[in-house]
Amino acid sequence: MENNDVKEKIRLWDSPGIMSPQIATVLASYNCTASCTHCCFDSHPGIKTRLELAEIIKFIDSARQFDTMKLIVFSGGECFLLGDDLTRAVEHATGLGLRTRCVTNGYWARTEESAMRRLSDLKAAGLCELNISTGDHHQKYVPQRLVINGVLASVKLDIPIVVMIELQKERRVTDAGIRSDRRIVDLLKTPAGKLFRTVESPWMPMSAEEVIPQQRGRLINNSNVHKRRGCRSVLTTIVATPTGDVGVCCGLTRERIPELHLQMSANRSLQEAYAQATSDFMNIWLFVEGPERILAWAASKDPAIDWENKYAHHCHACLAVFDNERVRAIIREHYHEKVNEVLVKYILIKKSGSVLAPDLELSSSSTPTPETEFQAAEPAIVRHRTIPILAASQ
Ligand code: SF4
Ligand code: SF4
Repeated sequence: MENNDVKEKIRLWDSPGIMSPQIATVLASYNCTASCTHCCFDSHPGIKTRLELAEIIKFIDSARQFDTMKLIVFSGGECFLLGDDLTRAVEHATGLGLRTRCVTNGYWARTEESAMRRLSDLKAAGLCELNISTGDHHQKYVPQRLVINGVLASVKLDIPIVVMIELQKERRVTDAGIRSDRRIVDLLKTPAGKLFRTVESPWMPMSAEEVIPQQRGRLINNSNVHKRRGCRSVLTTIVATPTGDVGVCCGLTRERIPELHLQMSANRSLQEAYAQATSDFMNIWLFVEGPERILAWAASKDPAIDWENKYAHHCHACLAVFDNERVRAIIREHYHEKVNEVLVKYILIKKSGSVLAPDLELSSSSTPTPETEFQAAEPAIVRHRTIPILAASQ
């Protein structure tokens, strides 16, 4: 297939749904009370760069103009350091009919009572969900006792709470350990216990070369890569960063991947910039097959690409896709071979009516040629980088 054939036309926009953002994340600042090793934004105390309240409100207002927008997430850095501005922003999003979630390390929950006071303001402003991140690295700065204080205050205020736990082979803090805390055991005996959940997620470094050991079967290789699914964050989430950039996913490595940012300018709306990103074939490919399969496909063409047993988190694999010059060269030369297959899968996922539809297996030979109307543009990754990798924090 010739490169020009990439401009396949597909009837996509007559039933919008998948490639419309449903979540807008506000990373107002990378300032944090902690400075965890491998933090995705190199967060630490004392970072000054931040979005002012007026800029946060402006982003939320722009995000609301997408009919599909449902949820505003406040993360960071440590979003609770925004103080009253966080409460005002939650209140504003709520007033626009949007759900809200805060992602925090829980440093503010020094006692259950003080946690209740802080969360009461957010609850009154309309806060719908709370996430607290913890694990071996986090607990060097925020002890588990505070995390449990935050959980108990949250459920008392009827705010669903998820505790996100770092996952790596050797670790002290585990899901089982948190669930066996006496206060959590007592909570789980009550009806309010249903508001509490835990999720373990691989802890990852911010370099494509570094490996964090994981339990057997967690690191991707040729024997398990078929189980990996497409990325359901890309283009379904837009992200405002402290410097005013807008990303097209909430990935941990997004800040280091210039291609995952919108091309914003003074005379261009968020909607126009987003529309351009939806036609970038690479974004669609990430959505449909995910970075792990793209990496495996590239390695099938260039066996010198070293990818097996290095990546557990899909954003870590994504960094390898964008940072490895050998992978970029294979994509540049061969991506057009994947266009029909990926676009047909994309349409089928879309027609299934759910972004959570199972991945579809289509062989290239049985792939029909898509009908036309939509043009998948040449992916930005095939061009040589002209913009520097963004500095994580100032
Ligand atoms: S608490 Fe989160 S944002 Fe803060 S340094 Fe640790 S990983 Fe980074
Ligand atoms: S896998 Fe890539 S596109 Fe998806 S969220 Fe992670 S960095 Fe973003």
